[in-house]
Amino acid sequence: MTEQQLIEDGYRKYTGENIDVFFNASMCEHAAKCVRGNGNVFNTKRKPWILADAAQADEVARVIDTCPSKALQYIRKEDV
Ligand code: SF4
Repeated sequence: MTEQQLIEDGYRKYTGENIDVFFNASMCEHAAKCVRGNGNVFNTKRKPWILADAAQADEVARVIDTCPSKALQYIRKEDV
C-alpha cells in the first residue's frame, strides 16, 4: 500500500530514518503483539507511542508483521 492510501484509510504516520510506521487506532485489536514484540519501538505509555528509529528497520518490520489486525503497517525507505 502507498503512503497516500494509508493516510486516506485513517493511518497516522510515525516517521523513521529507514522505515516509516503507520498506525490506525480504529483497527487495533489490542493484542499487544507490538509492545511485547519490542517495547523500545512500541510503548503505549510514551508519547509518541511509536518510535520508528528505536530499533533496526528489520526488527521494526518483523514486529509489525506479527500485528494480527493490520492496524500497524510500514513502508521501508529503500523500497520506495
Ligand atoms: S499488535 Fe496490532 S492489534 Fe495488537 S496492539 Fe499492536 S497495533 Fe494493536
